[in-house]
Amino acid sequence: MQKEILVTGGAGFIGSNFIEYMLRNTDYNITNVDKLTYAGNMLNMKDFSTDGRYRFFQFDIAIKEQLRMVFDRKYDAILNFAAETHVDRSIENAEPFIKTNIHGTLNLLNFVLQGKAKKLIQISTDEVYGSLNENDFPFTEKSPLSPNNPYSASKASADLLVRSYYQTYQLPVIITRCSNNYGPHQHTEKLIPKIITQALQEKEITLYGDGKNVRDWLYVEDHCRAIHKVLEQGQPGDLFNIGGACEKTNEEVASYILDLLGKSKDLITHVTDRKGHDRRYSINFGKIKTKIGWHPTFSFEEGIKKTIDWYKRKLG
Ligand code: NAD
Repeated sequence: MQKEILVTGGAGFIGSNFIEYMLRNTDYNITNVDKLTYAGNMLNMKDFSTDGRYRFFQFDIAIKEQLRMVFDRKYDAILNFAAETHVDRSIENAEPFIKTNIHGTLNLLNFVLQGKAKKLIQISTDEVYGSLNENDFPFTEKSPLSPNNPYSASKASADLLVRSYYQTYQLPVIITRCSNNYGPHQHTEKLIPKIITQALQEKEITLYGDGKNVRDWLYVEDHCRAIHKVLEQGQPGDLFNIGGACEKTNEEVASYILDLLGKSKDLITHVTDRKGHDRRYSINFGKIKTKIGWHPTFSFEEGIKKTIDWYKRKLG
């Protein structure tokens, strides 16, 4: 029998890439539920919106009565991508982050508990671990949760709820914590699309503080492949870090893209640092590599070139 999966947040960056990936690489039927906030985009779904194995509901996962309507069938798995995701917005107003990221996740857990889906994969982030200093070892799955902003705190809270449903009810749940993604479909408020689109238009590129904050970068298709493998091979209660082995400062990322586009570094300006700005993220993904056989395949050069091509086409 064909598998049925429920993807939440499939109009956003990673969710839409994941749906595209799964339609291409499996014969699964996919239901997508997305509220279509400012971050969700109908255009992200245009390449698969008419696929016979796909359907879409515009609902809010934080509203139980709406969410109930997508459970007209039993799912083999729920993949929870839906979230408020922009740290700066969470600093302005944390409330939507609490509603979607925590209440929304709780609703999904309760539907699994009622037997409406066989398992839940919670798509989390390395940001729940907080910040590292320059010479610290990368985060492992055993690193303590130490979130420093309302976004990461809401994601850490959701992770703890997911964990508690495993401990309390033996609910079949798995958590993945990935480093920074880049690729097609990402909102231009995020670092790499912002750098590319500003550079293409010869506009100023603002970097927080000294520009030396370090992130570990992973091309989105590699993340999608990791989640697919976790879906097939992960065991209830599993937790996996996913990373790109590609640490770069924000300034290095900006300079690299400007060089590729043949634009001047003078476009870069520095602005007052973000409040509570995490200095460095770094991920040890040895567990998923050993247990599931996943590792990143796209180099930063390949991934960035593909991403630039996509934004060039988008800008026309
Ligand atoms: P995104 O902001 O691009 O997309 C989020 C999607 O969720 C949007 O389509 C939005 O409309 C939808 N959404 C928001 N609130 C909703 C609600 N209440 N009900 C239904 N849909 C709702 O985010 P993204 O970058 O694609 O991230 C997806 C997931 O991956 C998030 O959970 C995020 O924490 C996690 N993650 C992201 C990254 C990254 O680098 N982007 C890295 C690691 C983990």
